[in-house]
Amino acid sequence: LPTLRLILGDQLNCQHSWFAELRDDVIYTMMEVRQETDYVLHHAQKIIAIFAGMRDLARRLREDGHRVHYLSIDDADNTQSLPDNLTMLLARHNAGAFEWQAPDEWRLDQQLAAYAATLTIPGSMADTEHFYTARDEAAQLFADRPTWLMEYFYRRMRTRHDILMQGIGKPAGGQWNFDHDNREAWSGIPWEPADVRVSHDHSALWQTIQDAGIASFGEPQAARFGWPLNRDEALQQLERFVRSGLPHFGRFQDAMSSKAWRLFHSLLSFAMNSKMLDPQTVVNRVEQAWRDGDVPLASAEGYIRQILGWREYVRGVYWHRMPGYEKNNTFGHTLPVPWWFWNGETRMRCMARAIGDSLEHAHAHHINRLMVIGNFALLAGLEPEQVHQWYLGIYIDAFEWVELPNTLGMSQYADGGLLATKPYVSSAAYIDRMSDYCKGCHYDKKSRTGERACPFNALYWDFFDRNREQLAGNHRLGMVYQQLRKMQPEAIDALRARAQHLRDNLETM
Ligand code: FAD
Ligand code: SF4
Repeated sequence: LPTLRLILGDQLNCQHSWFAELRDDVIYTMMEVRQETDYVLHHAQKIIAIFAGMRDLARRLREDGHRVHYLSIDDADNTQSLPDNLTMLLARHNAGAFEWQAPDEWRLDQQLAAYAATLTIPGSMADTEHFYTARDEAAQLFADRPTWLMEYFYRRMRTRHDILMQGIGKPAGGQWNFDHDNREAWSGIPWEPADVRVSHDHSALWQTIQDAGIASFGEPQAARFGWPLNRDEALQQLERFVRSGLPHFGRFQDAMSSKAWRLFHSLLSFAMNSKMLDPQTVVNRVEQAWRDGDVPLASAEGYIRQILGWREYVRGVYWHRMPGYEKNNTFGHTLPVPWWFWNGETRMRCMARAIGDSLEHAHAHHINRLMVIGNFALLAGLEPEQVHQWYLGIYIDAFEWVELPNTLGMSQYADGGLLATKPYVSSAAYIDRMSDYCKGCHYDKKSRTGERACPFNALYWDFFDRNREQLAGNHRLGMVYQQLRKMQPEAIDALRARAQHLRDNLETM
């Protein structure tokens, strides 16, 4: 009897060992289901990209001679639920076994395990053959350590996988971390590399998605779609990045600009998170570029740390903290996400730009996500779970295992500081130093109180003031609390009043 093998929408790894041999007794199935499109409101480009990537892999597998049963969103047989479709397909093909690849999302992991347990035929889960680490590897590494320091994890990964090493236990260049070289603002020179990503016309697919009644938001850009469909396109994007973005990646990693939404970032997160592209290929290529003398070590190290370090580390946090991680709310924040998060219409120029770019491209780079949007959400006191759902919906690369620890842990500090050693917040001064956003903003970056004062300023001081009990003991915040102690009581009262006024009027900022 044949085996039915399920491939999920973020398991588009054409190099998986499943496909190494052609087997007549194996039927692969992929399905576009409302269960997966509707659990949060998604950006239009995210839905298009995943469906298009799935369709491309199915086509390729068929061309290679594999048997594929693909259920498109408008297929009359499609029940729109993963378990119901599986039941229908197992019966239709008279399958004698069911196999699936390990889901990266806790919800799906539970659902498939529970489903398989109801079957009378054997069921088994295969590895996705994508990550450097196993789900529980970080937890094991940190089992006897007091804190989950990413740097510790990263150094272990560098050593274990022999990446950017010179001799046993010695990091290339004598340093593990070149962060201090990587903090420059961007003045416009060198100019952002040209956007020569692929361009697909997905208008027909977009029409099908709309006809199916799937709700979404953001610009679909269906007629000139820039996200890769498959491994070959992702590899082309990697090569272009190594040539033109990577040499400057390190220096301008934290820079933001209203004139350049990509700057020197790779835009490879979607290709990697959908598993079209494996992290090992990316890391090895970047290391090679440094060994060939094509890019500075600070750039190669800064980039590799994001993938070999942060990406694997947050995955470990996710599996360690699930289920229930999304409910963490250490500061007890309850304000709803304001409406302008969905259309970018706010007078705060930094927020308008960062959200506007996200709506247009389904992407914003790290510092816009962390130090503009996330910064505001935390200072204003938005409810972390709602903030998480917004991030999960809007970004093309947002899959819960990577999005949730970044949003809830790193950006909102809602887990009380597992990932972040202090809350990532700032007043206008940081945003002004790292971007051109403040020039031309309705608000005054220098003022703390008054109608035109930059909201980040009062909210910043008020945040530390109202969370003294929880944060004053943090040695990394010594300077902040020293400054607060020096403030006159009237000045603190004025900041509190201004912050309260802002929180009461979030919708009209
Ligand atoms: P580059 O700047 O070119 O970096 C290279 C690669 O490093 C990325 O493709 C990504 O795979 C990896 N990387 C970088 N930073 C991180 C990080 N903090 N955690 C994990 N991997 C990282 N990344 C996602 O992939 N999905 C998300 O849903 C996501 N949500 C985020 C939410 C918040 C609040 C924050 C602060 C960050 C989030 N990130 C997320 C991390 C990061 O912002 C994106 O990975 C990055 O912007 C993707 O663009 P890029 O490919 O051009 O990245
Ligand atoms: Fe943002 Fe304040 Fe600068 Fe305006 S002044 S862009 S609100 S930081």
